[in-house]
Amino acid sequence: MKHLYFPILLFFLPVCIYGQLPLPIIDMHLHAMNVDANGPVPNGIGRGNPGYPDFDPEKPWMQTAMEWLANPNGENPIVSPMTNDELREQTLEILKRRNIYGVTSGNRLDEYIEHGGEYVIPSWSPPTHIDNWPPPAEVRKILETGKYKVFGEVSFAYHGISPCDPRFAPYLEILEELDIPLGIHIGTGPPGASYLPGINNHLGRLHSAFEIEEVAIRHPRLRINLMHAGWPLADHLIAVLYNHPQVYADVGIICYSLPREAFHDYLRRIVQAGFHRRIMFGSDQMNWPAAIEEGITAIETASFLTEEQKRDILYNNAARFLRLSQEEIDRHHGR
Ligand SMILES: [Zn+2]
Repeated sequence: MKHLYFPILLFFLPVCIYGQLPLPIIDMHLHAMNVDANGPVPNGIGRGNPGYPDFDPEKPWMQTAMEWLANPNGENPIVSPMTNDELREQTLEILKRRNIYGVTSGNRLDEYIEHGGEYVIPSWSPPTHIDNWPPPAEVRKILETGKYKVFGEVSFAYHGISPCDPRFAPYLEILEELDIPLGIHIGTGPPGASYLPGINNHLGRLHSAFEIEEVAIRHPRLRINLMHAGWPLADHLIAVLYNHPQVYADVGIICYSLPREAFHDYLRRIVQAGFHRRIMFGSDQMNWPAAIEEGITAIETASFLTEEQKRDILYNNAARFLRLSQEEIDRHHGR
């Protein structure tokens, strides 16, 4: 095998000499959760979704959903690690190797910051139900520390609550005043979500990007990321992107949990309508680290995107949305 050493050295030398990094990526939708956040481990998800399980309501959907995750179908499914430490290490290994900066939220965020350094961009995630949020004055204090660059994922859609709900209004005022962007779950969740524990009212009509319009008009200085890109209602998303130039969308979960063709169809619609500068990569990685790279591959393999459009979606749009400084952008590029 000796003869192999020389070509291998040549391959790695440019990286060593010039310290080149892979082109940077921003993941707008990364979670730092418990490894069993999606049920007992190991569990997994089939790449490109080979299909949904058959269901008879004689038994609870939860049971069918757990069996589905415990035995993911398709080739080479994305499988969870077994422990919280492994989940963190595997996630951060991917971020560092691929030069990915993850807007990260979840109950284990501080551990990720400690081990991940600048690869972790902290986002403050409120409890799912708005009735369990700390009062506005307390949230203001948390945000005034400057630790959190984004407020999200706001996920009260799982309880049938719209962003137009008056309970959300005082928080929106604080976000606009402190100039902290909002990330909000608008679009799909797990299949049959309303029949899973802790979720009681995940309605298809709240997947509509139209839900954000009144918020956008009332708070025109607020930057808004529609997490999950309002899938599957492409018409609604396009109308909202057209109407509200401050609204962006990330492709969290849909980039790896949908059949690849269905994801590409959705992305193509948005790009054909002229909005490739408003779509951001987001994985929605929870307890399946390999989902991050699966999602990146879904962007990289989109034959209808130019190389420039891919770079916009994978990095440039998020850098603009987050208002990264030129210094930060240069550092991410190893310049
Ligand atoms: Zn979500």
